Amino acid sequence: MRLAVTNIGTIVSGDWRDPFVRGDTIVVSGPKLESVGAASAAEVESCDVVIDAGGATAIPGLIDSHVHVTFGDYTPRQQAVGYLESYVHGGVTTAISASEVHVPGRPRDPEGVKALAVAARKCFDGYRPGGMTVHAGSVILEPGLTGNDLGEIAKQGVWLAKAGFGAFASPYEYAPLIAAARAHDMITTVHTGGSSIPGSGAITGDHLLALRPDVSFHVNGGPTAMPDRDFERVIRESDIALQICTAGNLRTALLCASLARKLEAFARVLIGTDTPTGSGIMPLGMLYTIAHLASLAGIAPEAAIAAATGSNARVYRLDCGLLAAGKAADIVLIDAPDGGTQSDALSAIRNGDIAAVGAVISGGEPRFVGRSRNTPATTRKIRIAKCSLPRDFSGARH
Ligand SMILES: [Zn+2]
Repeated sequence: MRLAVTNIGTIVSGDWRDPFVRGDTIVVSGPKLESVGAASAAEVESCDVVIDAGGATAIPGLIDSHVHVTFGDYTPRQQAVGYLESYVHGGVTTAISASEVHVPGRPRDPEGVKALAVAARKCFDGYRPGGMTVHAGSVILEPGLTGNDLGEIAKQGVWLAKAGFGAFASPYEYAPLIAAARAHDMITTVHTGGSSIPGSGAITGDHLLALRPDVSFHVNGGPTAMPDRDFERVIRESDIALQICTAGNLRTALLCASLARKLEAFARVLIGTDTPTGSGIMPLGMLYTIAHLASLAGIAPEAAIAAATGSNARVYRLDCGLLAAGKAADIVLIDAPDGGTQSDALSAIRNGDIAAVGAVISGGEPRFVGRSRNTPATTRKIRIAKCSLPRDFSGARH
């Protein structure tokens, strides 16, 4: 399919250092962005589908870098189905597994955790709930695993490793496994703060600095935060990515984002939801955290969006998260919510409002155009201006 989005008011790139793209048109060819900014009338004319954005704002599809997936579109923790599809209606086009710890009766032995990661990874390989890409299969580091074990599952495509829920006496004991996972080119993540599973112990700045993972999972607490003084140490003394989660401590989320900006480390700030968990299922969680950082921590809305898109993509080495030619065609059209006080999406976010989602395109396919099931309606009208395919993009459940 060739698709064009025309009449865009503002294009947010997803790169916080260079956050806007000039122009008003995006052309998509198959699963990739062909051009972002300008396109000729002939190029738009040649498209099968044209979406008129009506002056709304285009952002990259949101990447939730902390989702507790299990198998299928089902969360045992909240006993609910269809939650991932619901997240697409919150603008999320990519979910990254925070490890499959919620699988009922999950195994804890080395062969079991290896099999779980490989199975989760392969189950989501070609399965896109609601059109979302799910990067599943994050191996839970447990005692008894070896570097060879990690090498074996890396060959099966597992590239995520998670420390924090293993049966180790002390968090420091994760160090050799984290180093081994990194040697196998895996992205390593460490639970941060107080335990969300009783008895698993708190992980603080000292542990992070000793373990050196790629990402501090829910640096603001999952949901209980580490001591305030540790934030500056982790920012100054490491290059660990700082993942701020919706289902964490709001005060330390704001503290961490402000500090990272002041210390010129904002590139390392990532946003994830850490859901579904005890905190629930939050289809709009990414939009809430973007609004919290922009309205309470003085972060520019376009920079907060970058923390939810391009920065996640850079740290996790994904081919999405940026509106730039050649990248994955994951686009979300947002606007000021109907009935609000602001006139455009970015002002609404700065005001603390949830942006209204008016269309989601992922992998080059419109998933719905017009109205999200979960956000308020957009102020501007976003519509299909041309469709030469026998398709319905209204967002009805299929
Ligand atoms: Zn989590």
